[in-house]
Amino acid sequence: MAKDYYEILGVPRDASPDEIKKRYRELVMKYHPDLHKNDPEAAKRMAEINEAYEVLSNPEKRAQYDRFGSVGAQGAPGGSAGFDFSDFGFGGGGDFFDLDEILRNFGFGGFGGARRATYESREEANRPTRGEDIEVPLTVTLKEAVLGTKKDITITRKEVCPTCKGTGVEPGAGYMTCPTCKGSGVIRKVQRSIFGEFVVQSTCPTCHGTGRVPKAKCHTCGGTGIVTETKTVEVKIPAGVDTGTRVRVKGQGNAGLHGGPRGDLYVRIKVAEDPVFRREGDKLYYTAHITFPDAVLGTTVQIPLIEGGYETLRIPPGTQNGMEFRIPGRGAYIIGSRRRGDLIVKIQVDIPTNPSQEEVLLIEKLKEIYDSKKNNRM
Ligand SMILES: [Zn+2]
Ligand SMILES: [Zn+2]
Repeated sequence: MAKDYYEILGVPRDASPDEIKKRYRELVMKYHPDLHKNDPEAAKRMAEINEAYEVLSNPEKRAQYDRFGSVGAQGAPGGSAGFDFSDFGFGGGGDFFDLDEILRNFGFGGFGGARRATYESREEANRPTRGEDIEVPLTVTLKEAVLGTKKDITITRKEVCPTCKGTGVEPGAGYMTCPTCKGSGVIRKVQRSIFGEFVVQSTCPTCHGTGRVPKAKCHTCGGTGIVTETKTVEVKIPAGVDTGTRVRVKGQGNAGLHGGPRGDLYVRIKVAEDPVFRREGDKLYYTAHITFPDAVLGTTVQIPLIEGGYETLRIPPGTQNGMEFRIPGRGAYIIGSRRRGDLIVKIQVDIPTNPSQEEVLLIEKLKEIYDSKKNNRM
């Protein structure tokens, strides 16, 4: 028997749990290192007391200790379900120290929790994770935006490594026990507190809690399970997109991890300026230039359509500069529907800037008529 825990606590072998608790409390008050700051022996003594109490306060451990003179897992208070300082009721008053703070810092009540956390991270290490989305810019013509199109878009994205199928392990190499944590998936660290030494558990950084590591990393991906590939994806750009529209292509983003789904590909649209048409929402605008006589007498104009071809528009006599005519259903598609906006034709009456002699003569004649009309009215 290495240490006599009963002797350390100074209780008889048949002491009741209450006696042990009471005695422990007395000892904490007596040997508390805060009261013996210059005495390293006090801290050592306190550590011993803690160790003894930890075993004797736990019925299972105490029985084991009574029978074998030791307890299986050394030192770690992990598993001591009954080890709860708050039972003692000191600390709340702040007489010596903030007990809660210490318990928090050292993960008390969290030892069971530490195991749970490990279990969770074990799952997390292999949990299917959705791949990230990718966003790429794409400039389209106004015609493509208004009527829809298909585009081949070349992207660089993460792929599941074809050699190791994403495991990161060289095929056939297999796994071995993690050398860092010896397969437990957790790292135990001893921390000192005023109560002595405590063991804090954390997830093993080498194996991320899985307890095993590949014997050899995949030569293709270097163990990441992921490679980058350049891929050309055909993207359907729906009719009616505009600058700022994000077209989602489901499942064409980065590959997921551990069998998780792919992310999505987003194509961010920019619509290039068009030399002929201007767009406002689902409306397209076209400016038709007509002459002064046509405006006066009326005419017909061939209006180009964005999908190609022309539509004949009748300009009535007396059409004013800036007047608008509507050609229904020849504008931009309304995204997600089969309806189209209108094509608005705006009339621009061109004033001759460099008239011929003959034109000048005729216009002077016209001016005389206008002037006489004006004088008659006055
Ligand atoms: Zn690989
Ligand atoms: Zn490990």
